[in-house]
Amino acid sequence: MANIAFIGLGNMGGPMAANLVKAGHKVTGFDLVQASKDAATADGVSIAGTALDAVKGADVVITMLPAGKHVLTVWKEVIPSVAKNTLMIDCSTIDVESARFAHGHALEHNLPSIDAPVSGGTGGAKGATLTFMCGGTDVAFAAAKPILENMGKKVVHCGEAGAGQAAKICNNMILGISMIGVSEAFALGEKLGLSHQALFDVASTSSGQCWSLTSYCPVPGPVPASPSNNDYKPGFAAALMLKDLRLSQEAAKAAGAATPLGAHAESIYDAFEKAGHGGVDFSGIIKHVRGLAK
Ligand code: NAD
Repeated sequence: MANIAFIGLGNMGGPMAANLVKAGHKVTGFDLVQASKDAATADGVSIAGTALDAVKGADVVITMLPAGKHVLTVWKEVIPSVAKNTLMIDCSTIDVESARFAHGHALEHNLPSIDAPVSGGTGGAKGATLTFMCGGTDVAFAAAKPILENMGKKVVHCGEAGAGQAAKICNNMILGISMIGVSEAFALGEKLGLSHQALFDVASTSSGQCWSLTSYCPVPGPVPASPSNNDYKPGFAAALMLKDLRLSQEAAKAAGAATPLGAHAESIYDAFEKAGHGGVDFSGIIKHVRGLAK
């Protein structure tokens, strides 16, 4: 069993750290927010006074933070102090460029590192059913895989440094676009007098089938566990979807890729957030779509 430092014990990091404790690891955590530290303590995580204290004696350091700037700040702070061969893992969703900077910083200190963003949301974090998308060397991936398997059900090696983040933003661009597409179909069906259940029964077993429809249906009724049945409480907040769509568009611009639907999806979620709905589940975009009708 490993000594693991876990920095960032929020909605995702808290339950992920708890699953590492359940798997028998010794986990020392740090967060800036007292409530997150209290919740992690109740789950068996030892809380350190600073990030630097948390990484003392760690075999593995995991970060689960909001954005690239937070990850780079923490990695730059702790890397000079960690023991030789400590494995650095970042599970946050961040831009590919920052992920590559973070790897570069680890490499300067001869440390193995992996970018390992996740899919599966807070439910997946609690249930240890996340999918991890990893970027890094074969050696670093082989070391990270058994640790990540304690928190997820699928761990995929996507390629070299930054490849995990690349896979994550491509996946979430599909998700943002498909949720708007499914919402438009329900909004049109409503105008045409079609019941939600009838459209769901047809599309879920036809060529319109996709995760946004069958697992996360934006209208209440057909999929009881979807946030639409719980007043669109997240789940996955629209502000986080907007963050990921922005990352996809920054990456598309830098790489010279054409993503016209991704760009349009970003502008639609941007308008939704500006209207004050950033905290609503991203499937709430159906309300915005209905509101566009003339
Ligand atoms: P969160 O805001 O709940 O947690 C982030 C935590 O990081 C907070 O508790 C914050 O206090 C802490 N933090 C920030 N700066 C810090 C620092 N310098 N030192 C220590 N702690 C610090 O966010 P979350 O929902 O847990 O998401 C974390 C990451 O996972 C994000 O990159 C997000 O995009 C990604 N993600 C979230 C979901 C989801 O459904 N919530 C799903 C997949 C991926």
